[in-house]
Amino acid sequence: MINKIAAGEVVDRPAGVVKELVENSLDAGATAITISVIAGGRQSIEVTDNGCGMSRDDALLSIERHATSKIADVEDIERIATFGFRGEALAAIAAVSRMTLRTCPADSNEGTEIEVIGGRIQDVREVGGPPGTRVTARQLFFNVPARRKFLRTDATELSHIRQVVLLYALAHTNVALRWIVDEREVINAAAGATLEQRLRELFPNLPAAHLHRVEGEHDGVRVHGYVGGPQLARGDRSEQYIFINRRPASAPLIGFALNEVFQTLLPRGRHPVAFLFVDLDPSGVDVNVHPTKKEVRFRDGASVRDAVIKSVRAALITTGATVSTTPDRSATTPPSPAPPPPPSFPNALATITDLPPPRAFAFPRRSLSPFPAEPPAASATAAATTAQPSPPAGDAAAPPPAEARPSSPWAWCRILGQVGGLFVVLETEDGLVLMDPHAAHERVLYERFLSQALERRVPSQGLLTPETVELPPHIAPKVRQNLDILTSFGFGISEFGGDTFIVDAVPSVFGELPARDLLIEAAEAADQGGARSGAERWSVERIARAACRAAVKARDRLTLEEIERLVIELASTEMPYTCPHGRPTLIHFGFRELNRKFGRA
Ligand code: ADP
Ligand code: MG
Repeated sequence: MINKIAAGEVVDRPAGVVKELVENSLDAGATAITISVIAGGRQSIEVTDNGCGMSRDDALLSIERHATSKIADVEDIERIATFGFRGEALAAIAAVSRMTLRTCPADSNEGTEIEVIGGRIQDVREVGGPPGTRVTARQLFFNVPARRKFLRTDATELSHIRQVVLLYALAHTNVALRWIVDEREVINAAAGATLEQRLRELFPNLPAAHLHRVEGEHDGVRVHGYVGGPQLARGDRSEQYIFINRRPASAPLIGFALNEVFQTLLPRGRHPVAFLFVDLDPSGVDVNVHPTKKEVRFRDGASVRDAVIKSVRAALITTGATVSTTPDRSATTPPSPAPPPPPSFPNALATITDLPPPRAFAFPRRSLSPFPAEPPAASATAAATTAQPSPPAGDAAAPPPAEARPSSPWAWCRILGQVGGLFVVLETEDGLVLMDPHAAHERVLYERFLSQALERRVPSQGLLTPETVELPPHIAPKVRQNLDILTSFGFGISEFGGDTFIVDAVPSVFGELPARDLLIEAAEAADQGGARSGAERWSVERIARAACRAAVKARDRLTLEEIERLVIELASTEMPYTCPHGRPTLIHFGFRELNRKFGRA
């Protein structure tokens, strides 16, 4: 009875059984594991390995509760290197199924087969067979009707099992792994694969071009793996595979960290795809919080969170040019003066020769000076009107070399026009691009303000006539308490008594906005940022997001000159593909896609 009750904690559904058995195989040093399930695991789950196996005595002991070979004394609990250590799984599975354990130690050919039904040993016999262990659990929960009733459809149970199989297949690329569903092989992954190979094998439909390599270390926390760009976002977190010290684990903290990075890249409710390995000193993690060891706790959660945020953010920035597929990214060669005709259209007769002259912009693979305080209106226009695009020599003099800029979304582009009075049509070396100028403008303003505010050099713009602003009573204290921060964001504020303030300057990026609205937004953000770690960045992002939307709304028409400048500025942002609220700024139609659509494959 005790085993039956405990079983509910360790294995609550077929996927839990698969997890425990696979972990045992890994702990046994297996290099090949086969998982076979029938009817969503309800009818049968079988895990076969080529690990160390067990002697007859150990095999009999292993199905007793609290029997484990993995810890010898109390101190071992502090440095657990195996998956198991509680000695509960086999006892639990045996208690709630018809289980057969067949095992043969590596150094002998005397194997043992034990049959257990509902926790009672029915038969123990000697068998031959290859070294290793095979555990078969049939008719799970046959003796626990309450639990059985809570099982979902075979398809649902199978999708949970799939998650488990994928997690271990990703974490243990050195182990060969087969997964068989209803006698059909679904996965056959060879041993010794790299993570990249496994990803390709396990997720054949995931476009590699949108996966960004993550690699970073901060405060002794290493974060590596892959994260999907905004294009791959999903409606839930089911495709987030997180490993802590190689152990599949869920830690809400990491989900929050991902959200934080993606909050300006994805609309609310969308979640990135992620395959993330977080490695840190084992003494900094507590895995013994929960019987299934699913959720872990960190001694220093803030540094784990920061490491994830920094590493993932860096990954998204440095490989920002996912839309473009041009292989040549050499930073030094200036682009050829005239864009070469796209190779995909060899038929020169079909090209129209008397189109209006293009306004072409070349984007050398080098740092465009990051957000000059004064927009380089003059040089931008000059570059635009010369028919022959050349790198804007004016500010090329001293590109900060340390701060190598990500490559821009295109090497060259020209504005072809505008459709619907809104969308800007561009040609680039890769094809056709539609740009939403509002979204693009938001992205540009957002990044400009962000970098200025984080470096504490926000140019402020004095107001011709200082504005007297009376704030609602719940906002005024927030302004008073955060005067320093607000000043560093470019506000000029002085108290006028009561809930009234005089604003004589605002951040120049948002010069067009009503000072009062801007101040309210900023005060609330600064206040909510409060004691969070990374509070400043968070507040700045929030202010910037709110203000950008308003700033862009405040102006309805953009002149051609402004659009030209926008194209240049967008190309030099860190994350040009979405606006700070996660809407796309660019929609790309590559030549390959166009060719395919026109049946010119
Ligand atoms: P735990 O993994 O927490 O030790 P289990 O109930 O899962 O507890 O397993 C009990 C013991 O049985 C393990 O400690 C191990 O010695 C042995 N064992 C279980 N599965 C295998 C296997 N596949 N190969 C070899 N030994 C195994
Ligand atoms: Mg175990």
